[in-house]
Amino acid sequence: MKDVIIVGAGPVGSQLAKRYAEQGLEVTVLERSEEVGRPLACSGHVSPDIQNFLSKEDFEEIHQNSIVGARFHSGEKEYRFYRDETVSNVIDRVGLDKKKAEEAREAGAEIILEETVEDVIESSESVRVETENDTYKASIVAGCDGASSTVRDAVDLPEPDHFYQGILCFTDEEDDSDFVDVLLDVPKFFGWRIPRGDSVEYGVGVPKGENTMKWLDEVTSKFDVEEEDRRNICAGAIPIEPPESVSTNRVFLVGDAAGQTKPFTGGGILYGMRAADIAAETIDPEDPDTGDYEEAWREELGSDIFLGKFIEKMYSMPWTVQRLGMWFFQGEIGVHMDRPTTLLSRKQLKAMLPWR
Ligand SMILES: Cc1cc2nc3c(=O)[nH]c(=O)nc-3n(C[C@H](O)[C@H](O)[C@H](O)COP(=O)(O)OP(=O)(O)OC[C@H]3O[C@@H](n4cnc5c(N)ncnc54)[C@H](O)[C@@H]3O)c2cc1C
Repeated sequence: MKDVIIVGAGPVGSQLAKRYAEQGLEVTVLERSEEVGRPLACSGHVSPDIQNFLSKEDFEEIHQNSIVGARFHSGEKEYRFYRDETVSNVIDRVGLDKKKAEEAREAGAEIILEETVEDVIESSESVRVETENDTYKASIVAGCDGASSTVRDAVDLPEPDHFYQGILCFTDEEDDSDFVDVLLDVPKFFGWRIPRGDSVEYGVGVPKGENTMKWLDEVTSKFDVEEEDRRNICAGAIPIEPPESVSTNRVFLVGDAAGQTKPFTGGGILYGMRAADIAAETIDPEDPDTGDYEEAWREELGSDIFLGKFIEKMYSMPWTVQRLGMWFFQGEIGVHMDRPTTLLSRKQLKAMLPWR
């Protein structure tokens, strides 16, 4: 019997595997893909905190561009938000997943590819994991299997509150400028343009039921991109708002499976890896009790997710309210990209003073 089975070798699953393996535990990661990191469905646009999760060399290897601000577009109006230092980084997301998986292996975790988990059966003493090919047994099981988590369904845990559909594509334009563009003329969420150095990414997130291709067309045509210049179109679900419980006695969810994302961007790489660290610190396979994990990750991320929901609601407000809000906050900002609570910080208030 293993100590820990982790379903999914995304950044969150690998971070968790690394942390448990470092404790000398026997850890197996089951990953359905034949290659870690693929298929890609993510922009890899992250705050500088990513450097807390990578060595300097690895960060530099996957770093593609540094961003200092964003232009928000509402109709023909444009509002700029910026800082005099890097606010975010554009990274090679496939590269990130591979680096994190390598770290997990080096710490002693086993990663088995092409192993799709189909069922998880919990008993009072252990957990059984059924895959297409095999059966595994462990003391505890972590569902790090993304937005449409099989583990979550298998143990009857509730889904995140709602989902957006994200779709993106790339062009071969060279652009290492340091502003991203955010388009607000899409239903309930937003579209984006991200300069990636040797390419540019265009994407959009819209509610379920919307025609994603139609909205991607809207975004790319706003920037005069020809249809034949778009390549590698890919899509994925974006979970928003964690449910009231993400664990049973011996099974727990981390990352997108638990809805641990920023409600106003859908970004979940860093929230998920922070929650993975907390899970490894609080859940002991020898004496499993997931209560401390539930408490600790909500303590760490809860206020930012709570405030993030209000920002998300702004996308659905009438354009007059949106524009008023952006007009008020535009200019230099003191806000941390992952921590909307810093909107209320002294640094942000100072940045808004007219005589700054
Ligand atoms: C279009 C789009 C753009 C995004 N852009 C950003 C961004 O710029 N910044 C950011 O922070 N976040 C972004 N996100 C969100 C980000 O991709 C997720 O928050 C992040 O990938 C969560 O990591 P994870 O490890 O929890 O899940 P995932 O990365 O989804 O990894 C889950 C893993 O589990 C595996 N798996 C799934 N089911 C099974 C199964 N049954 N058996 C075995 N393995 C299984 C999958 O193959 C996958 O490898 C974006 C999302 C989308 C859709």
